[in-house]
Amino acid sequence: MSELIRQVVNVLMDLIKVRTVALPGENYLEVVTYLDNLMTSYGLGTRIIKVPKSVVKEHYPEFADYPRYILLAELCNVRDKRIHFNAHYDVVPGGSGWLVTEPFKPVLINGRVYGRGASDDKGGVTALVLLAERLSELGEFHGCVEFSFTPDEEIGGESGVGYLINQIRKPDYAIVAEPTGLDTVWIGSMGILQLDVIVRGVSSHASQPWYGTNAFEDGIKVAYALIKELKPKVESRQFMGERATITLGGLARGGVSRNLVPDYFQFSIDRRILPSESIEHALNEIMSGIDNLRNNIKSTVEVHIVNKIEPAISKESTLLTKLMNAVKNVLGMNPKVTISRVPVDTRYLQNMGIDSLTYGPGNVSSAHGPDEYINVSDIVNAVNVYTELIRNIYDK
Ligand SMILES: [Zn+2]
Repeated sequence: MSELIRQVVNVLMDLIKVRTVALPGENYLEVVTYLDNLMTSYGLGTRIIKVPKSVVKEHYPEFADYPRYILLAELCNVRDKRIHFNAHYDVVPGGSGWLVTEPFKPVLINGRVYGRGASDDKGGVTALVLLAERLSELGEFHGCVEFSFTPDEEIGGESGVGYLINQIRKPDYAIVAEPTGLDTVWIGSMGILQLDVIVRGVSSHASQPWYGTNAFEDGIKVAYALIKELKPKVESRQFMGERATITLGGLARGGVSRNLVPDYFQFSIDRRILPSESIEHALNEIMSGIDNLRNNIKSTVEVHIVNKIEPAISKESTLLTKLMNAVKNVLGMNPKVTISRVPVDTRYLQNMGIDSLTYGPGNVSSAHGPDEYINVSDIVNAVNVYTELIRNIYDK
């Protein structure tokens, strides 16, 4: 085993052993202190940012007593373009079904490290740690590179990158090291709009239903109209090979007894939004689909927005050209450029107009499930690509 490989394995295993499961979000200070010690030992300037309790409380009220920390580190020798590298250190729960090891007891087998977070996203964190070390060893490094290690990506990122982005100087470029795999770049991500449609009628006994207004039957008419008219229109839309979707009835409830006309019915809508669409447009389409029906039903219909996350994209990315070149030079291939079907923290940077991309070691298919792993060579290759990218940016 080479010294570099040994170092990758050691750092990654140390990180996996710290249970940084969101939620609730435990041991965050422990992992941030570990990373701070490493970055400081490489000579980087660091800062630990404590996320205000009020921010945590706003987004995750039950977990406000678990403190959130962000590690910022920088190696900046020139007044030139600033590039930011980010990875998140929180993980999803260990879960069941593991065969190779237990989730927080990492093992190395045939060049792969197994453990929760190996791919998502402690492999990314490890790559950035090694990148920092490599840059610090280049005596004549001329550049301005900033690193952040953030919590809570797995629960929306509001108290991670979402908070950080307003605390730092706006970088010119950013790379978020999520497990896209080194053959794929995510230039954007899909958004989400989740709604509850609430239908209210009037109850009466089923022996004399004419005294009532049936909220269920009216709700079904609304749902059917959306399925028939809106769904085909939405699901024919594509962007970079990905399709918009609308899913009805993931949650549905109403009615209390067989012999009563139900005065209440509700069903959910989950709409996945392409970067070529917008939340506003998606909402308007659904609302006008419902409005068209209002005259045909007696019940009232309200729509409640439960969750919304904007889609995001880096338009006309010059960083993309530089990254494509770096991948080609280091790995000898042209990576696939696409979008993520789920939101990633990169969106916070992209929505502030920062030229940002998601690119990192690991694979999404292995993330979140049992026997999550990463190929150690993937992490080494990622460090090589990032180093080449930085060279592309500062060598003119
Ligand atoms: Zn992730």
